[in-house]
Amino acid sequence: MPELPEVETVRRTLEPHLTGRTVTCTHIGPYDRCVATPQPDVFCERIDGQEITALGRRGKFILLRLDSGDVVTIHLRMTGELSLTDQTAPQGPHLHLWFDLDNGQQLRYNDVRKFGRWSLLTPEQYELFDQSIGPEPLDPSFTSERFRKMLHSRRRILKPLLLDQSFIAGIGNIYADEALFQARIHPQRHSHELTTDEVSRLHASIQDVLQSALRYRGTTLRDYRDANGEPGENLSRLRIYSRSPDDPCPECATPIVRAVIGQRGTRFCPACQPID
Ligand SMILES: [Zn+2]
Repeated sequence: MPELPEVETVRRTLEPHLTGRTVTCTHIGPYDRCVATPQPDVFCERIDGQEITALGRRGKFILLRLDSGDVVTIHLRMTGELSLTDQTAPQGPHLHLWFDLDNGQQLRYNDVRKFGRWSLLTPEQYELFDQSIGPEPLDPSFTSERFRKMLHSRRRILKPLLLDQSFIAGIGNIYADEALFQARIHPQRHSHELTTDEVSRLHASIQDVLQSALRYRGTTLRDYRDANGEPGENLSRLRIYSRSPDDPCPECATPIVRAVIGQRGTRFCPACQPID
């Protein structure tokens, strides 16, 4: 599933082509459950004729801000893909939603497994949505001190806590494992037990693995492509997530462990990331 670096890369590839464009007509295919809210006909009605004034991102969601003040939120989930094409280009079998734009192009949403969701939110609904998601880890307001307060106010196991979007935005399985490995912290440690030094290592590692993945335009394990159809190039940069159990740790050569923690496969080095 695309995480912050992949979603941000898609946003960046779309931004110069979509900002300032007007949606002349919104189309939804037979699979209309890709629109979560409002009803599909209302969704189309409220978007048609609107200018896209800006592209944003919140956590793993892409945001299209409209002239009306409404915000379209797009969650790509497993296999959702956005692309820009000419309106005359042939349509594939997995096309579920598309915008005709005023320059003759189309913004197309293809999704093989159909888990992705679109919503159209009023400014008031967007406020609630925004408040339901934790801080952005690359925002300057996300300081180590703020992170310490966040961690210490909860008594949760670290790995599932980092994946909890209401705690912190945009982190999924890949970057949680990478950040914990780089910080040398066991994924089953409890959030309130981290020392100030450990918090500051984890804070720096989260920012570092996300920034580095952004630089290489995200990680493509299998499906992920940016809006130009290009895979990301960060896979070879991963230090722990891409390895198999019993592969040697890249730091100390101890066999890597894969455990299920909070229902998610988790890789760590038992020597570099001791439990106590
Ligand atoms: Zn190790």
